Order: sequence, then C-alpha cells, then structure tokens
Amino acid sequence: MKPFKIPYGRQEIDEQDLAAVANVLKSDWLTQGPVVPEFEEAIAKRCNVNYSVAMSNATAALHLSCLALEVGPGDLVWTSPISFVASANCALYCGAEIDFVDVELVTGNLCTKALQEKLLEAKKKNKLPKVIIPVHFAGQSCDMARIAELAAEFNFKIIEDASHAIGGSYEGRAIGSCLYSDITIFSFHPVKIITSGEGGVATTNRPEVAKRLKMLRSHGITSDPDDLTEPSHGPWYYQQQILGFNYRLTDIHAALGLSQLSKLDRFVENRNALAKRYDKIFLTAKNIKPLTINDMCRSSYHLYVVRLLNVEIGIRKKCIEFLRSNGIAAHLHYIPIYLQPFYKKFGFKAGYCPIAELYYSQALTLPMYPSLTYSQQDEVSKKLELFLIANT
Ligand SMILES: *Cc1c(COP(=O)(O)O)cnc(C)c1O
Repeated sequence: MKPFKIPYGRQEIDEQDLAAVANVLKSDWLTQGPVVPEFEEAIAKRCNVNYSVAMSNATAALHLSCLALEVGPGDLVWTSPISFVASANCALYCGAEIDFVDVELVTGNLCTKALQEKLLEAKKKNKLPKVIIPVHFAGQSCDMARIAELAAEFNFKIIEDASHAIGGSYEGRAIGSCLYSDITIFSFHPVKIITSGEGGVATTNRPEVAKRLKMLRSHGITSDPDDLTEPSHGPWYYQQQILGFNYRLTDIHAALGLSQLSKLDRFVENRNALAKRYDKIFLTAKNIKPLTINDMCRSSYHLYVVRLLNVEIGIRKKCIEFLRSNGIAAHLHYIPIYLQPFYKKFGFKAGYCPIAELYYSQALTLPMYPSLTYSQQDEVSKKLELFLIANT
C-alpha cells in the first residue's frame, strides 16, 4: 500500500514507545505478565473509574460487554447508524437483535429526542431494548445525562462506545468514568487517539461486571480461590465456569499503550488546536460547516468532520477524489450501518434513519492527527476551498 502524503489520521510513535516495547520483549512475560494490569490501572486512574479490563481490540470489548450485561437471543440492542459496523455487530455475536436510533445532523451523535420517541413506541409494542450503545462520534460525548435519565425510565443498560473519545470529557469528567453508563469501551487501533497496535479496554464501576469481563476474555477460566466452586486440587488448579474466549491483550501491546497514554494530554491538545484552526479557516466559507461541539463537551477530535451544504452528492464525491489525487486522504465517516448489504438482509431499507442519511450525503472527513503541520493543514483547506469555488 502506498501511503498518502497527508493521511486522514496516523499514529505518532517515539523513542519512549520503542523502548517500552523492547523492555517487554527482553522480559520474562510477553503476555499475562505485569504490564497489562499496569496499563489497566493507568487507564482506570486516568478515567476516574473503579475497573478497567484490557482486551485484544475494541470489537472484543464490545462483544464481551454485551455478554457481561447478559445480552442473548431474544434481546434487543440499539445503537447509532453513524458508526463503525463493530458497534452493531457485537449484538449479533450474542444472538440478539439490533436496531438503530437516528442521529443529530450537527454532531452525528445519537439524537436523544429520536431515542425517547422510539422508546415510547417500543414500550407500546413491548419491545424495549436491553442495552443501548451510544457512540461518541469523532470524539465528542453523546448527551449521556439525558440517555441515563431515559435508561432509568425505560430500564435499559448502557455501553458507551468511546472508541473515538479517550482524552475527551463530558460535564468536566473524563469519558470512561461511567457516571452515566454501565460500561465504556475504548479502541487503541493506530488511527485512534492513542494506540497499542491493536487493543481495547472496557471500564466499569460495577465489580461483578469487571469480574465477568476478565473471565470472558480468558476462556471463562478462573483460579481465584474466592471463586472456586469446590476445593482446589492443588497449585495447578483452575476452573472453567462459563464459555469464554481468548481476547487477551499481550504485554507487548500493553507496554505501547501505557507509553502512549503518558502522551494523551498532548495529543488531545494538539488535535484541539488543529480543530480550532480548521474552524477559523472555514468560518467564512459559506458551504463548509464543521460539526458542532456542545458546551458540556471537550472533544478528543479523533476525526475532523465537516458537512458540505448545498453541494450535490456527485460534487462531494468528486471533491474527495480531487483531494485524494492531490495526496490528501479525505474520507467519509460513516455509511449508515443498516445500509450495508449484510444489514439490509435483516430488512432495513433506505429512509430508515433520514437524518443519518442526510448527514451521510453531506459529510467529509479531513486530515487530523497530532503531527499534522499548520502548513499541511493550510494546504488541505486551500485545496478544499478552491475545489468548492470552482465546482459550486
Ligand atoms: C474503531 C472502532 C471500533 C472497533 O475498534 P477495534 O479496536 O478496531 O476493534 C468500534 N467502534 C467504533 C466507533 C470505532 O471507531
């Protein structure tokens, strides 16, 4: 693969990261060693949450979070259509049914008014969801206080898909604190805010959920004396108590994640500075509208997304092609999940979430990563503005 001159996102790896990984490779433990719990503790401290369970990726964390909340056949899970497919697939892994709640046009986040209406309808039909997975799109939290109110009223559990949002905050609290949710999950894929190569984590304040996540990520096995159902046979003894998986994170990955975590504040500051700069540049552009950031939120700006207003869909496509032909990896996040061929098989049709589809017709993701220089950023915005002037 030939990389773009200016990708839409990229990792930043330094000497400290290399040394951290090399130290693990020279140690006795490549996996199931001390660095994974060290990484977990650092995440829990950073998010001001009681428990943190590291896993091989965020998709695994979503899967096990659903299982830990006892999602199974006959249950319903709702999520946002403007997300990566993993936010929905996790429900299907558990044999549950998935459904989608429409978004807000200006943030791309799950719309709490649409959610309330859908819940009222579902209540009448006796088809309320067991779990809702709000997705903190592009790094900005959903309106979690309102979603938690609805959870109390309609009796559902909440998994925050914060794959985009580590380092962001809501009402002044770190995303991942789980004040308004049962579980929050983060992704450490290289395109996200910090990376461990592949990796993910689930945070929770509920001890029984943390315990279940830990068992599920390692085959459903425990050797904790407090949990055994019969006396130990000896020092080799362990018990498999439930059907689990091997979704463990290695110490090699955890060491990279831990080293990256020490740079999280700087990464998020750089991203915010770049976003502010983009916002300022586009202030005078009549057909470029950046996403709205709400007062109670600080975005981690995993993505910098704009909407193109009064621009035909064919022109938006040409625009992305034009930027790409100039070495700038403009992108589009996301295709509404239910429009994927796999999801259409469940009977979802175009028109199901009209705002999500309108959003999809307007959205454009521009390059955003801590090492993006101001002159590269100026090149991106100039190319975009010139294209729009020439084509609209
Ligand atoms: C990246 C991403 C995931 C999956 O993360 P992995 O660590 O790659 O499994 C899930 N949800 C959203 C919203 C994502 O962006």
